[in-house]
Amino acid sequence: MTQPLLQIKNATKVYGGGFLKTGPTTVALQDFNLTIDAKPATITTIAGESGSGKTTLANLVLGFVNLTSGQILYKGNDTGSMDRNQTMEYRREVQAVFQDPYAVYNPFYRVKHIFDLVINNFKMANNKKDARDLIEKALNVVGMRGEEVLEKYPHQLSGGQRQRMMVARAYLLKPRLIVADEPVSMVDASLRAMILDIMLRLRDEEGISFLYITHDLSTAYQIGDRIYLLYQGATAERGDTMQVIENPKHPYVQLLINSIPVPDPKVRWGGDMEATSVDDEQMRVNIKSGCRFYPRCPARMDKCLTAQPPLYVVGKGRHEAACYLYDDHPVTEESAREQVAG
Ligand code: ADP
Ligand code: MG
Repeated sequence: MTQPLLQIKNATKVYGGGFLKTGPTTVALQDFNLTIDAKPATITTIAGESGSGKTTLANLVLGFVNLTSGQILYKGNDTGSMDRNQTMEYRREVQAVFQDPYAVYNPFYRVKHIFDLVINNFKMANNKKDARDLIEKALNVVGMRGEEVLEKYPHQLSGGQRQRMMVARAYLLKPRLIVADEPVSMVDASLRAMILDIMLRLRDEEGISFLYITHDLSTAYQIGDRIYLLYQGATAERGDTMQVIENPKHPYVQLLINSIPVPDPKVRWGGDMEATSVDDEQMRVNIKSGCRFYPRCPARMDKCLTAQPPLYVVGKGRHEAACYLYDDHPVTEESAREQVAG
């Protein structure tokens, strides 16, 4: 069996504590597990409210912050102990697209220079013509042309052009995985559709997988293969996107999905906004043991305060939910391992 492309094992990230480790801490991500297969390329959606740990996860995968505990494996190699060549390969093959691409660009450089830097850094071309061809191809993939943008400065482009350029820049490196943290939350509806469409094409035509991070479930519905719903740093539910969105099992996910605004007024999803009326950040409670969703849960039981619920298998296609409502179902292998270990 081939190694998965990316494997996250029991990843935990705790912020704060200070030098003496006595200050306040935030558990941004706890015992998080995720696998992205090597083939075929897929889009894995990470969805959750503000403060649920999505950006922390992206930053961990991109190596911008370090794990407190756990492991991230790329093609079977622990990213925490890779040699120079493996690290270089990882940096090239795992690329990022952020919400606000402006923050990434140096405003004093023309667009051309930003692309040249990447090409030189990763030795992508042997001469100027090859470099220019690569850049042109990458821009074409996102529906732009070199002559339109290369001589301009970042501030002279529209937000949508900057965002597409970010995708082109990532594409240039022939990545296997693009980590896209809320790539469409700051653009308008038509651009959103265009960028999501580019992601689908890159998946199908170029074999690029995505870790697609969003707080907006309706975009997940449009493109995701697998989805993970995060609640306060842990997976509440995961499975095939259609399966989860059409038949959610976790009370939190049920509340979320009932509150999705749908463009077509004939389609009613229900109107319960309870789950989204407060964000995770404000609700982050220090439940030392037990289910994090307890304070907001319409189905809570005494049992929920005793221990964090493991992921139970709740349906076809590895559909799993971390909720004691399903404690007569089998737990996932991962959860079973944790229970033995813990
Ligand atoms: P999301 O992207 O889902 O909004 P984040 O990963 O940004 O969530 O944040 C998860 C939690 O970690 C939040 O409570 C946030 O305040 C906290 N957090 C994120 N980054 C830091 C940091 N650098 N220092 C301290 N706390 C942080
Ligand atoms: Mg974020």
